[in-house]
Amino acid sequence: MSDRRALLRTLPAIDRLLGTSQLTELEQTQPHLLIREAAQKTVDELRQQILDKQAPLPDLDLDAVAGLVATKVAAMAKPSLRKVINVTGTLLHTNLGRAPLCSDALLAINAVAQGYSNLEYDLDAGQRGKRFTHVEELICRLTGGEAATVVNNNAGAVMLALAALAGGHSAIVSRGELIEIGGSFRIPEIMAASGVKLVEVGATNKTHLKDYANAIDKETALILKVHTSNYRILGFTEAVSGEELAELAHQHDIPVLEDLGSGLLIDLTPYGLPREPTVREALKTGIDLVTFSGDKLLGGPQAGILVGKRDVIDKVRKHPMARALRIDKLTLAALEATLRLYLDPQKALAQIPTLKMLSLPASELQQQCETLLPKIMESIGHAGDCTIIAATATVGGGALPLAKLPGRAIAVTPKNMSVNELITRLRSCDPAVIGRVQDDQFLIDPRTLNNDDEKLLLLALTQVFTQ
Ligand SMILES: *Cc1c(COP(=O)(O)O)cnc(C)c1O
Repeated sequence: MSDRRALLRTLPAIDRLLGTSQLTELEQTQPHLLIREAAQKTVDELRQQILDKQAPLPDLDLDAVAGLVATKVAAMAKPSLRKVINVTGTLLHTNLGRAPLCSDALLAINAVAQGYSNLEYDLDAGQRGKRFTHVEELICRLTGGEAATVVNNNAGAVMLALAALAGGHSAIVSRGELIEIGGSFRIPEIMAASGVKLVEVGATNKTHLKDYANAIDKETALILKVHTSNYRILGFTEAVSGEELAELAHQHDIPVLEDLGSGLLIDLTPYGLPREPTVREALKTGIDLVTFSGDKLLGGPQAGILVGKRDVIDKVRKHPMARALRIDKLTLAALEATLRLYLDPQKALAQIPTLKMLSLPASELQQQCETLLPKIMESIGHAGDCTIIAATATVGGGALPLAKLPGRAIAVTPKNMSVNELITRLRSCDPAVIGRVQDDQFLIDPRTLNNDDEKLLLLALTQVFTQ
């Protein structure tokens, strides 16, 4: 222990460290604030290491310590939010940022971000305008709604609609629809936060029209229908259709709100997805207001879209929460560009990455794997085996839980490390590579691999396997 105590006295002083040639040179490119903090942290860690009897004694040579500081500065200087390569095959990975944007959206963001815009300025009238006008007509054209508005995300859209249409009153929801979506979005809690009293009706698997009808009283301000996005009740089930709900609600002069979750603008059954009502079909039932996400199957930026009857939308817009949840200009630019592509569904399918990846047939993925396989083998060298296997991809993001997209993947079996070690190492690459493990193999699913990222993936594999 006395060794260790003596060593403590030889820990370099911060100013001496900062005066080393290595760190004074680093001042040219890195902020002083970061270097000083890194030096302090490094010395603190070394002190801990000396005090920890189990730890080996550190090297306190001044240049060696300066080297540790420089490494720390490099890590601190890296952007925190950064690009990753997704080879999981999950199209809408909420943890990986959901939908990648189409190039029109990127151009639109760039054009609006670089300078000023007519965000809330009516160029014809030369006076103040409203930001939602940039997408309202488009949304109505694509869905058949009378009016529309947009907010920060769909959770916000649901909260806002609840507060505006039923705040201080009650809303009826089927017990089969009291869902939780990842990230603490729970219908009962959202309703409470919106100041709406929840009246549950029916049973988990079955709710009948008469359950709703019996629950309506003078406090009822709304009927809420929720898409059970991330789970399905199978078997002996029954839910009430939009038409029936709308008819019942309108007899009592109250509106129906439907949270559609993903919100399809085009039918995706030709690409192997389960049948889902589109937003247009949902509105056709007579439902007054529907809400859906911008960054799920729509394939745009994070946003919450509200569309439906004009008087209902007017109420929503006037609520104070609408201002608190307003959409920002960059998102709006991306959303408008994405929605424009939907005017020609063929264009949407060809240019919106989510739709493009979704509609890739297994034969095309097989071909991509065959092209990729020799390149991956070259990167890995003799350090692993790889083969093409049949693999199913999922949509993710809480959308279409039962949808399985048949495809192909390259399965990599490392020879000199465990699969767990492999995924850890791939995560520490720059950019990080995120994949999935199945049967002790690392799967590379080309479906979610952007063409431009192939080189980066190969570089990461080379680094992990041969260095
Ligand atoms: C995803 C989802 C939400 C939340 O939407 P965000 O855009 O993530 O805020 C709400 N309701 C349903 C049914 C969903 O599927």
